[in-house]
Formats: sequence, C-alpha cells, structure tokens
Amino acid sequence: MILHEDPFLSASSSIMNSYIENWQKMGNKVVGYYCTYIPEELLFAADLLPFRIRATGNKDTDLGDIYMVRFTCSFVRATLDMALKGIYDFLDGFLVCNSCDHSRRMYELFDLKVFSRENFRKNVHRFYLALPHIITDEGFEWYKREVEELKEELEQNFKINEITNEKLTKSIEIYNENRKLLRELHKLRIQKNPKLTGSEALQINMANSSIPKDIANEELKRLKTLLTKREDINIDNKKRILLVGSVVDNIEFTELIENSGVFLASDVLCFGTRNFVDDVKLETSKSPLESITKRLYYRLSCPRMMDDHERRLDFLKEEIKRANIEGVILQRINNCDLHGCDNMLFTHELKELEIPVLNMDREFYQSDTTRLQTRIEAFLEMI
Ligand code: SF4
Repeated sequence: MILHEDPFLSASSSIMNSYIENWQKMGNKVVGYYCTYIPEELLFAADLLPFRIRATGNKDTDLGDIYMVRFTCSFVRATLDMALKGIYDFLDGFLVCNSCDHSRRMYELFDLKVFSRENFRKNVHRFYLALPHIITDEGFEWYKREVEELKEELEQNFKINEITNEKLTKSIEIYNENRKLLRELHKLRIQKNPKLTGSEALQINMANSSIPKDIANEELKRLKTLLTKREDINIDNKKRILLVGSVVDNIEFTELIENSGVFLASDVLCFGTRNFVDDVKLETSKSPLESITKRLYYRLSCPRMMDDHERRLDFLKEEIKRANIEGVILQRINNCDLHGCDNMLFTHELKELEIPVLNMDREFYQSDTTRLQTRIEAFLEMI
C-alpha cells in the first residue's frame, strides 16, 4: 500500500480539497482559523467546518513581506502570502486568537488587505477570541466568557437559531472519537515495529484537520485497518527521534529528516500529539460548552502558556519512554520566541537527563537542505 496515493491523505498536500468542495456545495460554510485554542467542537456544532490555516506548498513570502517585517515568523508570512494570492478566498468566516503575536496580527491584515482586495466581493465574517497567557481559575473564567460570546457572535453572523446543547454534545462525541482514532494510529507509529513513518503520521493529521470530522472518522477507521495489516516498515539502522517545536505543515521537511537516517517515532507538534492527547470530558454538572472550554484551556499546552513549561517537559519525558526515543530534534522557525524559549529550556533539561538533543532554527520553507542534512547526520553520529 502506498499511502501518498491515498485520496484522503491528498487533502494534506493542498489547501482546498474535494471534501471542502462537497461541503460548500451542500450550502455549508467554512471558517479558517489561527490556531491552537479555538473551540472546534463549537464551530462544528454550528455546521461550520473549522479549517486550521496552513501554508503547505508555499515556497515564498514575497506578497506577505510587503505587510510583515522579515523579523516575523515565516510560516505566518507564508500563510498571508497565500491569502493575498486568493488561495483562501473560499473561506466564509475567519477566526483568530492571540496564540502568538505573529498570528494575532493576521486579524487586521486579513481584514485590511485580504478581504478588502479590489474585486473581492464576498462578506467573510471575522471573529476574535482573546486568551489568557497563564493557566489560573480566573483565566479560565475569562476564557469561558470569551467562548460564550463567540457562540453568540457565530449565531448572529451565520443566522443560526441556536447552537443547542444537544448539537454541542453530538459534536463533542465526534471529536472525541476522532482523537481516539488518532491515538490508536499513533500507537501503530510508536510501537517497536512501526506501521507508519513520521511523515505519513503528519499527512494523516493535516488531512484530518482539513475535512469534516465525521467523514474524517470513517477515513481514519479505514486507514487503521489498512495500516494494521501492513507489513512493518523497515527502520533498521535508523535512530528513533522525537520531533518538537514550531508548526510543521509540510512533509518535505519531515521527509528530509527521515531520509537522513531517522525514524520520526513521535512528535510534540500542533499537527501531531499535542492535538489529540486530551479528550473533552462531558461533565453532567457542566454545560457541554464549558466542558469544551475546559479541555482547551487545561489541555497539554502550547508554549504560549507561560507558566506551564514543567507539564510540557513531563509530557516530553513520558513520550521519550513510550516511543523508545534515542534522540530529540528541537526546531523552531526563526523569530518564533515561544518555541525558542521552550526549546532552549528543553535543551538543558534533556541534556541533564543524558538524552541527545539537536536544537536548530529554520525558515518555514527549507531551501538549504544540504546544510540541514549534514547537521542531522552529525547529530546521529553522536547518538
Ligand atoms: S511557529 Fe511560533 S511564531 Fe509562528 S505562528 Fe507558531 S507560535 Fe507563532
């Protein structure tokens, strides 16, 4: 079985895909968003397709660079570049939260430069969700109010009677099943004799984020059956590596690493474990919306949560054991301070535990592949 010819996985290599086309043909709407901490279950309960904005396939940032200084994250500039080229014109709504200052800027830039382009006549509804930078009970109450207001704004803008508790509960069940399936597929990756590569796992996670979750669940079940029967992949002479850090939405990057004598046995990435380790726990004493908010706020955090590094380190250590990791590659996109700080701390902490670490900076689009390969090969020799 050749996974890269799988029709579901092909949704990972482009922005638009046939599932979105069908969704919109049925009269449904799509909401693009940046990035972690968006209550996807709420959108889906409103019959909106949440689409996490990516820059997959973009090799330059020329248009984005007009509006954003080069000292900002090249991933964000590449997404803006794509939007200015019209690639995100299919969106019906746009939702930004202040995950980081670079992506937060997209709220104004899409408003002023993308959706106000000459000849772009569509009314794209814009939403903003504010998020605390630390995890406290007061912070949760604030975030909860923000999500409740977002619910009202979605209802008003998309003229929805009410996003009922029944719809929210159904959506939670679909998303919980989705995460369970992703965890089951993850087990096939981290086991001693793996059934899929790190690049294939990334494709699965990206495709999964780009299509309606009820359909994705059927596709994931199909893939799980196929992969369970698949012959073990050959990882002889390869080192089992954990990949950590800034967003990776392109398999060219992971393939480059895997072609250098590496098996990416696991990751701590947005399109990876961070997304599926926690479920929404439906508590009967709470409203389903509060349960969604609780999971999002207290989940395995993104480095934007300033006081939660210890918990992220604990997860890293557990994952190193679970996936029999021999070395860790920490990477960050240049100017990404959030992952830069976390990676710097991880470098010292993991070295104290005598776990080999490679810490590197990169641009979103990797053009100097030879230099990167040389660094990885030198790192592997150390292990
Ligand atoms: S990679 Fe870093 S700077 Fe870029 S969007 Fe993600 S958190 Fe922000």
